[in-house]
Amino acid sequence: MKILVINSGSSSIKYQLIDMTDESVLAVGLVERIGIDGARLEQEVSGHEYVIEQAIPDHEVGMELVIAALTDEENGVISSVDEIDGVGHRVVQGGKFFDKSVLVDDDVKAKIKECAKIAPLHNPAHLMGINVCEELMPETKQVVTFDSAFHQSMPEEAYMYALPYKYYEKYDIRRYGAHGTSHKYVAQLAAEQLGKAVEETKIITCHLGNGASITAVKSGKSYDTSMGLTPLEGLVMGTRCGDIDPAAIPYIMEKEDLSPQEMDDIMNNESGFLGITGISNDTRDIEEAAEEGNQKAQLALKMFSYRAKKYIGSYVAAMNGVDAVVFTAGIGENGIEMREDICQDLDYLGIKIDTEKNNVRGKLTDITAADSKVKVYVIPTNEELVIARDTLALVAE
Ligand code: AMP
Repeated sequence: MKILVINSGSSSIKYQLIDMTDESVLAVGLVERIGIDGARLEQEVSGHEYVIEQAIPDHEVGMELVIAALTDEENGVISSVDEIDGVGHRVVQGGKFFDKSVLVDDDVKAKIKECAKIAPLHNPAHLMGINVCEELMPETKQVVTFDSAFHQSMPEEAYMYALPYKYYEKYDIRRYGAHGTSHKYVAQLAAEQLGKAVEETKIITCHLGNGASITAVKSGKSYDTSMGLTPLEGLVMGTRCGDIDPAAIPYIMEKEDLSPQEMDDIMNNESGFLGITGISNDTRDIEEAAEEGNQKAQLALKMFSYRAKKYIGSYVAAMNGVDAVVFTAGIGENGIEMREDICQDLDYLGIKIDTEKNNVRGKLTDITAADSKVKVYVIPTNEELVIARDTLALVAE
C-alpha cells in the first residue's frame, strides 16, 4: 500500500510518498513559488535529487508536476498514479467539527471552508490541494488530518476565553490549538519510552519550530495547549509575538493608524525573533548574533526560553504532575543550548537534564539527569507518518 501525503500551502505543495508495508519514505518533494517567478519542483529519492524548473501558474499545474515527477521513468518511484492507494492531506484548522481524520466528501470540504475564517492563510490553500487531487486522481480516496483535532479533548475551562459569551456563540471564538498531529505522535512515543500505556501518563510536549506550541497531554489526550483561536497565541516564535496584553493592540493601532489587517500582519509576520532582533526569524542566526554580543539577540533567546519555561510550569500545575517533558521540531530537536536554558532551574519541579546526554541533535534520546524525577526526551516528530497511518486506516475500511 502506498500513501501520498500532501501539505498544500498558498504558494507551495510539500509531499511524501510512503510505502506503508514498512513505513519507508519512497520520495520527498516540494513544489514552490506557485504563481510567482522562479517556480520549481524538487524531489528526492534515495538521496538522488530531481529538479524541474518551469512556470507553475496554479496548484493544478503544481500537482500535475508532482504526479509527473513520481511517475518519471528515470527519477520516479511508481509507474502510474494507480499505485497510490490513498492521499492524506494536512489541514491546519478543523474547528469544532473534527476530532479525528476523516475521508473527504462535500460536507467535509464545506466545513474546512467554513473554518477558513479562523485560518485564512491555510485552509483555502489546503482546499485547493484537495480539489486538484480529486480532479487528477478521481479513483483515489482522499483523507484529511487536522492539526486542531487532537486538541478537541480540551476541557471548557482550558479552551474558553473570558470574553462575552456571545462571541463564542456567534463566532466560535475559543482556543483550538495547532500542531496536534505532532503533539500526539511524540506523546505516544514518550509513553513507550516510559514503558507505560499513554492513558496512564502526564506528558508535556514542546513543539518548538518556527511556529511553536506546548501541550499538556493528560492520559493521552490534549488537556491544554499554548496556541489559541489561531497559531498566534502562546510562545515567542520566528515571526509571531505569542502572548501579549490584548490592550496593546488597539493602542498601537491608534498610535500608528493601522488597519486590523496591518496589525494582524505585524503580529504574525513582523514580531517574534525577527521583530525583537531585526535580524532573522531563524534561531541559528539569532544564536550566532548573540554569541557575537548582540544584546537584542541575547534578549530574544532569553524571552523564548523564559516563556517556554513558564508554560511547562503552568502545565505541571494544570495536570498536577508530569512524567515526561518532550522536545521536538526544529529548535526542540536541534537547539542544544535552548533545551538547556529552558530546563535550567526547573529542578524544584523535578525536571533536570544531563548536559552530556543533551549534546544531541535530531534523534530520539533520553536526556534525563540521573537525579531527575521527571524524564526528559528529544523525540523527532513525523507528522507525515501520522497522516499516512490515518489515511491507510480510512482507505482500508
Ligand atoms: P521547524 O519549523 O520545525 O522546521 O523549525 C525551524 C526552526 O528550527 C528554525 O528557527 C531553525 O533555526 C531551527 N533549527 C533547525 N535546525 C537547527 C539547528 N541545527 N540548531 C538550532 N536550531 C535549528
